[in-house]
Order: sequence, then structure tokens, then C-alpha cells
Amino acid sequence: MNIILFGPPGAGKGTQAQRLVAERGMVQLSTGDMLRAAVEAGTEMGKRAKEKMAAGALVSDDIVIGIIRDRVQEPDCATHGFVLDGFPRNAAQAQALDDMFAELGLTLHAVIEMVVDDEVLADRVSGRFSCANCGHGYHDEFKQPKVDGVCDVCGATEFKRRADDNRDTVAKRLKEYHETTEPILDVYRKTGVLRQVDGMASIDEVARQIGEVLAA
Ligand code: ADP
Ligand code: ADP
Ligand code: ZN
Repeated sequence: MNIILFGPPGAGKGTQAQRLVAERGMVQLSTGDMLRAAVEAGTEMGKRAKEKMAAGALVSDDIVIGIIRDRVQEPDCATHGFVLDGFPRNAAQAQALDDMFAELGLTLHAVIEMVVDDEVLADRVSGRFSCANCGHGYHDEFKQPKVDGVCDVCGATEFKRRADDNRDTVAKRLKEYHETTEPILDVYRKTGVLRQVDGMASIDEVARQIGEVLAA
């Protein structure tokens, strides 16, 4: 199964994608994670993306479409199915994805919108951190490691925070979401693939609702 997890910054897309990886062996395709890796590695792509990301603006379509196009053709995506997390984010990317699925003979099973009130997003994002070794996501208040300072998944003791997870940048990313990203939901509503889950519920409850969508 191939799905899109859709929602504003802090909605819980990455958290739920990591669960789908752990529980169903699906492949998480996070353009944000891939771009951050490129920035860290100092590649040409990373250099082109860096400033936009720091400003909370969208990186150019050719970069993100290119990385998704390459990645969906890797064999693991065909075997296990994939979860798009953070892509597409505007009409041009949605169109490119549609063309890509047609060309590669892939099926989009569902677009799952995580419905969340804007008011909670700043707190979600400002408390976000992740394991520096395996990338598993946590939150200062809502998802602490079981043992303080130790990653549940890999046992590492170093964690990191994203440079763009500050209140100023979050406000810009949220504005970008409402203006540019959210309107593409109309396309998916029309094609009948759109499903909604309650992103305000607990992480376990959201996972349960996503499970229901996948089972339907
Ligand atoms: P996104 O990928 O959509 O930006 P994340 O999955 O990174 O969002 O979640 C943002 C932050 O909120 C993380 O710190 C995560 O642990 C926390 N979080 C995710 N889902 C929930 C939830 N349902 N309730 C409370 N906190 C959550
Ligand atoms: P969040 O989960 O908090 O929404 P992401 O990790 O998905 O954040 O994205 C972080 C940043 O990476 C975005 O603000 C943007 O600069 C860039 N980015 C990620 N995905 C895309 C995309 N599909 N198109 C353009 N820019 C993107
Ligand atoms: Zn870890």
C-alpha cells in the first residue's frame, strides 16, 4: 500500500510514519528528513535547500520531485509500500506525483489528513526532539523516552532538535501550509482517496484510526 500522510507542521506525520515503518515494514519517504540529511552532508542539493528551510519556506519543486522520483523506484518501496510524509506540498508537486504514479504504474491507496487545531502546533513543534543516532521522534511533554535521556529504540543517549523548530519559523510554515499545501486536498477529495483522522487524539489513538483506514 502507498499512502500520503497529510497535515500541518507538528500534526504528527513523522510520528505515525515511524510507527508504520516499525509495525508494517512500510518505507517512510520524508522529504524533510532527506533534505536535512543533504544539508548536513553539505551536498549541492543541501546547499540549495538550506536557506529556504531555515526561513520556513518551501524548497524548489525540482529538488523535492527529483528526490521522490528516485526514491520510489528503489525496490523496497515496491515490496513494502511507502508513506509519503511532507510531500506533496503544492499543486505542482501533486501533479508531478500523479504523473509519476501513472508512469511507474503505482497506486495511491489513501491520502490521510491529520486534522489538528492550529493552536496546538506551536507547542508540538517547540517540544520536538529526536534521537541523534536513529532519528526516532520524541516530545518534551507528550512523548518522553521511557528512560530519561535514553532512546527507546536504539539506546543512544544523544538527541537533537531542528533549527527550524522555533515559534517564528513555525508561524511561517503554518501560513505556507494553509495557503499553498492545504488547497491540494481538494484534488484528493474529488478523486475519492481522502480520509481523515483526529490528529488531536493521543498518538496511540491516531495510530488506531490510521490502521482502520488501511484495513478498509
Ligand atoms: P510532523 O511530522 O507532522 O511535523 P511530528 O510527528 O514530528 O509532526 O510531531 C510533532 C511533535 O508532536 C513531536 O514531538 C511528536 O512527538 C509530538 N506528537 C505527535 N503526535 C502527537 C499526538 N497525537 N499528541 C501529542 N503529541 C504528538
Ligand atoms: P514538518 O514535518 O514540521 O512540516 P518537514 O520536515 O516536512 O517539516 O519540512 C521541513 C522543511 O523542509 C520545510 O519547511 C521546507 O523548507 C522543506 N520541505 C520539506 N518537504 C518539502 C516539499 N515537499 N516541498 C518543498 N519544501 C519541502
Ligand atoms: Zn535512537
